[in-house]
Amino acid sequence: MKKIFLLLFLSIPITLLYSQPYAIVIKDGHVIDPKNNIDGVMDIAVNEGKIVQVAKNIDPKQAIQVVNAKGLLVTPGLVDIHSHNFFGTEPDHQYENGNLALPPDGFTFRNGVTTVVDAGSSGWRTFPTFKAQTIDQSKTRVLAFLNIVGEGMRGGYEQNSNDMDSKMSALVAKGNKDIIVGFKVAHYEGPEWTPVDKAVEAGKQAGGIPVMVDFGGSNPPLSIEELFMKHLRPGDIFTHCFGQLGTREYIVDLQTNKVKPFVWEAQKRGIVFDVGYGGISFAFSQAIPAVKEGFYPNSISTDIHVGSMNNAMKDMLTTMSKFLAMGMDLKKVITASTWNPSREIKHEELGNLSVGSGADIAILNIREGKFGLFDYTGYKIEANKKLECEMTIRDGKIVYDLNGIANPIVPPKNAAANAANVQKSVTH
Ligand SMILES: [Zn+2]
Repeated sequence: MKKIFLLLFLSIPITLLYSQPYAIVIKDGHVIDPKNNIDGVMDIAVNEGKIVQVAKNIDPKQAIQVVNAKGLLVTPGLVDIHSHNFFGTEPDHQYENGNLALPPDGFTFRNGVTTVVDAGSSGWRTFPTFKAQTIDQSKTRVLAFLNIVGEGMRGGYEQNSNDMDSKMSALVAKGNKDIIVGFKVAHYEGPEWTPVDKAVEAGKQAGGIPVMVDFGGSNPPLSIEELFMKHLRPGDIFTHCFGQLGTREYIVDLQTNKVKPFVWEAQKRGIVFDVGYGGISFAFSQAIPAVKEGFYPNSISTDIHVGSMNNAMKDMLTTMSKFLAMGMDLKKVITASTWNPSREIKHEELGNLSVGSGADIAILNIREGKFGLFDYTGYKIEANKKLECEMTIRDGKIVYDLNGIANPIVPPKNAAANAANVQKSVTH
């Protein structure tokens, strides 16, 4: 018996026993990790779902898969804090278990996004369904702002102030601390402050978590100065910050083409300005003068749904590319898409490449060429650079590889399983 074991042991090559402590090594990429102030060429080693080393010259022989990232950017997995993912088949339910929302995995990884925060598609009544059918089933990390309306974004239900319940919302949030990061106010058409105040109250009751405001509509519009200075707390999030809709006050004064002075004050006070691009919630006529003046969004997010993705917005990287084209520098754009949003939602374990962190990584290409970037009004800017996703790693595994830059493309363990499946003809 002993002899057999000894023979087996000796037949395993020594190199296999002592090498390859890493699942993946990413070689020669330009790493931008704002949290750790890294901006230069580095290698990254990943093992068992974690980042285990960030250094120059990590030996590629120590890895099962080696990713050639020469000439590419390596960043933390992107964090999109305004997304709509409560997809379903209920007729007329819109973003709440309806067909205007998107299954996350179909749209995230091809854009370097590893975490999405659903922005209020579900409320306390509908969150359990959202959790069971989407959050628990997705490879993308799905977090949520809970709508202050119990029913969530189910069309007309959003106008029902009787369904806005701070206590129940806070209770559900406290019971799902790992997923619910705050509360959402959206689409309310009326002159009352009730929805905002109830959401802030829920935020306080749930232990001091933020509120994201999509500031409805009213005629005449409610004052955003009052919103920022009197109703919201530092850390609360004003999404759609570059919108220019008739029923809302906007941040750039069209007479002077300057950011209103109280908006600067509000950002200093800690109010978070989030892009939330969406279908009609971003206008270059607001964003260009603001960026020119040095007023940058704290976070870049998409407000992705069936409408916006097929309109001007398209996806996270197109939205980030617009800010690059307007003159926001690359490092600031990456910060606003990784580390800043992670801090805003109080998940500081995300959006960075620290050793010991979960291995959520985006590898991006800055493509050069002629690109047209437009908004929903038809205003178009020409750009010569555009971000493209080459690879996404989620929880230590390659989940998207555009051009096969991993070697081997399929890890040997999976390759054997794939081959067995081909023989059984069970794959599609
Ligand atoms: Zn939205």
